[in-house]
Amino acid sequence: MGEFELIERYFASLGAARADVALGVGDDAALLEVPAGRQLVACTDTLVEGHHFPRGFDAADIGWRALAVNLSDLAAMGAEPAWAMLALTLPAANEEWLEGFAAGFAALAVAHGVALVGGDTTRGTLTISVQALGFVPSGAALRRRGARAGDLVYVTGWPGDAAAGLALLQGQLAGGGAARSALEQKFRRPEPRVGFGQRLRGVASACIDVSDGLAADLGRLAAASEVGAVVRATELPLSQALFQLAGEGRAREFALGGGDDYELLFTVPPAARAGLARACATAAAPACHCIGEIVAGRGVRIVGEKGDLPLPRGWDHFAA
Ligand code: ADP
Ligand code: MG
Repeated sequence: MGEFELIERYFASLGAARADVALGVGDDAALLEVPAGRQLVACTDTLVEGHHFPRGFDAADIGWRALAVNLSDLAAMGAEPAWAMLALTLPAANEEWLEGFAAGFAALAVAHGVALVGGDTTRGTLTISVQALGFVPSGAALRRRGARAGDLVYVTGWPGDAAAGLALLQGQLAGGGAARSALEQKFRRPEPRVGFGQRLRGVASACIDVSDGLAADLGRLAAASEVGAVVRATELPLSQALFQLAGEGRAREFALGGGDDYELLFTVPPAARAGLARACATAAAPACHCIGEIVAGRGVRIVGEKGDLPLPRGWDHFAA
């Protein structure tokens, strides 16, 4: 199978069909209609085998994750996803792998109305680079900056589950049964908080998605907002599965320091709490927990029952 047959067979019409795609896969570039009154929101994220997922990881899960991590960035901006581009570097054109990958990617794309409009295909170490594009009403995007002293800090879902799932896959955490599959599933198939991110527009004062660890990403939000943050360790939502397999102490470490959650971490001014309650009052809304508050100053503090806990370092590809 040659490069062009490969593109035609697997990627020429993947994802949702959208009327705003004037020209998709097949020419030198795509032509896309951005609606009036909207800003284009663009992000890109790369997954490298052995760094972002273990060698031999299921192809469909790789396809899902590659899009999910990008849709999570759009969610954190409060954007509505529309289009994606896919730069794929493959060691070989393995049909079974490509079929699985395309199916996993398509499942999430269709669920969020995303059309694949172009990309690039090359040979080399398995590397998947996705670009996601979406819209926000002009001026309405959520940002990392905007949090003020007195704002409350919230997180969606169950931070730490995905990192524990990866630890299970890598044999660094033991356990079986339903708890194991629940945690592994959170790593394999993160659910980007796309709808909820849009509902946070006009409610959250600042927002970031948790990809490198809750404490580290809160540090980034606080730094961008030029404020400090206090997290109460006892308020961290820990899933039953995480608690069961990791125990309370290690569960908290996963929740604070583990990456790959793709949950939203955001701040809400006290006056906007009613707005948050409305955003949460839909069947599709994720669980949402207040874990601390924004304070004057700089940096993140994690307060436990017996004083401050050490601050976990976030994931950094170039850390010494
Ligand atoms: P060029 O050589 O002009 O850059 P390519 O041969 O790389 O063009 O790509 C041909 C068409 O196929 C383009 O529309 C491109 O966007 C699309 N394409 C290539 N690889 C992929 C892919 N992995 N997924 C989606 N579209 C792709
Ligand atoms: Mg060209």
